[in-house]
Amino acid sequence: MNDTPETAAPAVERVLEGLGVAPGIAIGPAHVVDTGRPRVREYKIAAHAVAGEQQRFADAVAGSVRQLRKLQVKAGKMSGAAAEELGFLLEASLQILSSNRLTRRVKERIAADRINAEASVQAEVGHIEEEFAAIPDTYLASRAQDIHEVGVRLIRRLTNVPYAGFGDLPKGSIIIAHAITPADTVLMNPAKIGGFAAAIGGPESHSAIMARSIGLPAVLGIPKLEERVDSGTTVIIDGALGRVIIAPSAQTLAEYARARRRLQRETALLSRMRTLRAVTLDGTKVMLQANVELPFEAEAAVRAGADGIGLLRTEFLFMNRDDLPSEEEQFQSLKAFVVAMGGKPVTIRTLDVGGDKLAPALREKLPIGPNPALGLRAIRLSLKYKPLLEAQLGAILRVGALGPVRILLPMVGTPNEVVRVRAVLDRVATRLRKSKVRIADPLPPVGAMIEVPAAALAVRSIAGAADFLSLGTNDLTMYTLAIDRGDEHVADLYDPLHPAVLQLIHHAISGAATAGVPIGLCGEMGGDPRYTQMLLGFGLRDLSMRATGLARVKQRVRATDIEEATRRSQRILSQPDSAHISKLLDAKGT
Ligand code: PEP
Ligand code: MG
Repeated sequence: MNDTPETAAPAVERVLEGLGVAPGIAIGPAHVVDTGRPRVREYKIAAHAVAGEQQRFADAVAGSVRQLRKLQVKAGKMSGAAAEELGFLLEASLQILSSNRLTRRVKERIAADRINAEASVQAEVGHIEEEFAAIPDTYLASRAQDIHEVGVRLIRRLTNVPYAGFGDLPKGSIIIAHAITPADTVLMNPAKIGGFAAAIGGPESHSAIMARSIGLPAVLGIPKLEERVDSGTTVIIDGALGRVIIAPSAQTLAEYARARRRLQRETALLSRMRTLRAVTLDGTKVMLQANVELPFEAEAAVRAGADGIGLLRTEFLFMNRDDLPSEEEQFQSLKAFVVAMGGKPVTIRTLDVGGDKLAPALREKLPIGPNPALGLRAIRLSLKYKPLLEAQLGAILRVGALGPVRILLPMVGTPNEVVRVRAVLDRVATRLRKSKVRIADPLPPVGAMIEVPAAALAVRSIAGAADFLSLGTNDLTMYTLAIDRGDEHVADLYDPLHPAVLQLIHHAISGAATAGVPIGLCGEMGGDPRYTQMLLGFGLRDLSMRATGLARVKQRVRATDIEEATRRSQRILSQPDSAHISKLLDAKGT
């Protein structure tokens, strides 16, 4: 029952849907800030005033550079992923400010259009942002936000509008804005700020990554959000569902308060999981490893208590550059992971680009065939361009002297591909030994991804050539079902529980066991606790996943009875479709 007096007109609850970029629930008073581009007045200037206006702009650039350098010093004192992310952003902003492109174009515009500096910045930045946004690449599109951030910084300086801090806000405040930059997130103390939501930004934006790493619930991409909320109104941020609820009803508030308490209890429980062993009820040990991609993720893997790195994707070494990284450069990057893992195994996958994932430096060499998903990519590409493979293997052999590493080959289809890589590996090892360079001794194990249906079916012949195998269920699902994993138009049909996919997984696991070759799994299925018992029932004892999934999967492992899981997995394999499988998967008991 609601005892609000009838005379008071209660605000009506409104639910706005956006992109949930950092999970968690926050409830608190809204603080609406104008972190977007300040409104700029455009006015004409006289011909003789052009030089002065250009100088005013140059001063603003110099002042912004000074301010960014100060922030860099501050970032240097922080630690973890947030520090790393802020470091990237500040560097990106400094690069944009020092690039001739922006400064030259703004100065030219001041002279050509005879308009004031702030209006020229606004027009020019808007123009560049549009150019970026038109490129169909989520990474580049999110870089448009870096340009936006620089534009805001310059305009604020030119119009003398200072940045607002969040220090004096009531505890638990929810920041609502047109845009939130990583520099804004640095000012958000999680002990004081509950979460944030903004009109623009995607899941790969710097702010989203920062929000996840500092653990602030966040929702982005709600058009005109800042105009739809008043400061002081109670707001709920549901970072998992991507929902912002304005002026929630008493009932919604109570439901979310309960959900928040449940989440807090769960988080506490999961952090205790870190030190517990991944052993089933009957005492079977399961290896839980982390998938990593960017250097700062090694630390997250260690923090999550991973038994090792089960998949190190090396594509990051080749992105955002026009040349190929040298062996030395790759060695230095890989070294950071091996050192961070402190003696735990690191499985390094050779380059998995081609087709859709194209590194700019390889673009010229690579003809894009009619069907990139089936084209010259992954291990096929490495075997075609030997210097590429040799540099990677050289770097891996060298880090192998510093800690245990394994070499994993993507998209293997035939045993011959593994044999050919071994021949290259031997050659590179001989060269390095001759030059007295320290390398892994003995040579690291060479494994094959099982992510093409042919490899899953012919697993025993591939096992004959490889030292270990790793199931890549993301691509295995895509190639088995002929459904592009990146195409939102068929996303609803992408289904790892399809009987054909499960039969291939099971076949590969049994084949590997018969051949006596260890097999693990590093696709997304490994990080979803819903699948854990089924995979254990199929016989897997080695799962690799994003670090944030480890605790929940470990919790599921510890609640598993292998015999019962095996029985249930057998039943799953005899089901006619994924609807039946789903039901069985979620049913309690056997
Ligand atoms: C996979 O395909 O399951 C896999 C782990 O590799 P990626 O997602 O990098 O293609
Ligand atoms: Mg793959």
